[in-house]
Amino acid sequence: MVMSQLSGSIKGALARMSKAMVVDEKVLNDCVNEISRALLQADVRFETVRGVQASIKSTVNLQALADGTNKRRVIHRAVVAELRRMLDPGKPSFTPSKGRKPASVVMFVGLQGSGKTTTCVKYADYHRRTKGFSPALVCADTFRAGALDQLKQSAAKAGIPFYGSHTESDPVKVAVEGVDRFRNQEGCDLIVVDTSGRHRQEAALLEEMRQVVGATRPDLVVLVMDASIGQAAFEQAQAFRQSAPVGAVIVTKMDGHAKGGGALSAVAATKSPVIFVGTGEHIPDLEAFDAKSFVSRLLGLGDLSGFMDKIHDVIPGPADDNTSPYQILEELIKRGNFTLRDLRKLFRAVQSMGPLGQLVSMIPGGLISDKFNDKEGQAKMKRYMTMMDSMTDAELDGSSSPKLMNQSRINRVARGSGRPVREVVDMLEEHKRMAKMMTKLPNVKRPNDINHIAN
Ligand code: GDP
Repeated sequence: MVMSQLSGSIKGALARMSKAMVVDEKVLNDCVNEISRALLQADVRFETVRGVQASIKSTVNLQALADGTNKRRVIHRAVVAELRRMLDPGKPSFTPSKGRKPASVVMFVGLQGSGKTTTCVKYADYHRRTKGFSPALVCADTFRAGALDQLKQSAAKAGIPFYGSHTESDPVKVAVEGVDRFRNQEGCDLIVVDTSGRHRQEAALLEEMRQVVGATRPDLVVLVMDASIGQAAFEQAQAFRQSAPVGAVIVTKMDGHAKGGGALSAVAATKSPVIFVGTGEHIPDLEAFDAKSFVSRLLGLGDLSGFMDKIHDVIPGPADDNTSPYQILEELIKRGNFTLRDLRKLFRAVQSMGPLGQLVSMIPGGLISDKFNDKEGQAKMKRYMTMMDSMTDAELDGSSSPKLMNQSRINRVARGSGRPVREVVDMLEEHKRMAKMMTKLPNVKRPNDINHIAN
């Protein structure tokens, strides 16, 4: 994963600081320098890193701390706060409202190859799939041959209405026609406009962008950046920002080997938040980004909100139900009894969530053990699910289902699923461990509580 090296280095720096016999200026400096080096290696801009470094040092005034203050905790908190600040411009971006009339217009800008066209479709699909919007797509990229067909095909695949023209070469005209067509169309509440890119942020591209913005007056301009952009991100983001009212950033290809830190710190150049990250080539490969959750994940603190979003994608409520994703796990926690059926549901959700490592690291408190965090772990999870498929409803649902599982029932499940008895016992042990952990999570509920975890 893009951020694993950065995560490892920062966690290492904090761990070394925590283990020091006495926390003095030298320990603080070593810790801050190590974190700074890790950020620079992840391509975060030098000026930004220097700012983070200075802020941590000025927040943590070891000499001024009262006797008995937990210095390790003070440093830890300052690091968390500064990393969050680096990624959070402090003002939210425009968010489209479902059912709004006239429809919200969201325009995508970026360099060619950044993933702009793909991300337009992902963004439209995300809003429809997870929030019930009725989006439409407009192709105003008249520069790149093939852009129109690419967007048209992806739109058809996703079942999203589309507008574009093979004959009109003026991007402003196409954009205006497309927006006009959908703006007052019955049922359409979100219009996503794809614009041209170029290989560099040259004058012609920026001028064209300015004109399309002027003619369509979008509610939000999203700058799409490739995670591999590195240190050039700041300058590029600034150039776009000077020509268009960029209000949000999406960083693509976070699934690759790029370091990603540069693109993420483009927040400083645009003064706008990163709202999503692209995590693959397929339409559902888009994750909502939240600076707080990201830092929690980076530091291995567990990210309940990210986990909940994923759970919600996999086990959505009824289409018109406003159940928040937090309510799903919250319900399990509140109910107080974590049944084997819940475990099966959770494993099923985890299995359909793509790279498992990503997910396991999001779950607070190691709810799902690290032993499921690789290929062998995934296979094990599948075998556990097969064993649970051989259980009766009473065994799956019984409030004290493990107690129900006496030796003869265990033998029966082993026979029914074709697995050794030892493995059935292992699975029941794992369930017991998780049920116990569930009871320790009662205060971790909503996104604001992520603060509580990180602190
Ligand atoms: P555009 O020129 O900016 O419109 O870029 P495209 O949308 O055509 O994307 C360029 C390439 O990047 C395509 O091969 C996409 O499949 C790929 N791509 C876009 N987003 C992602 C992502 O998040 N992860 C990965 N791995 N590939 C992506």
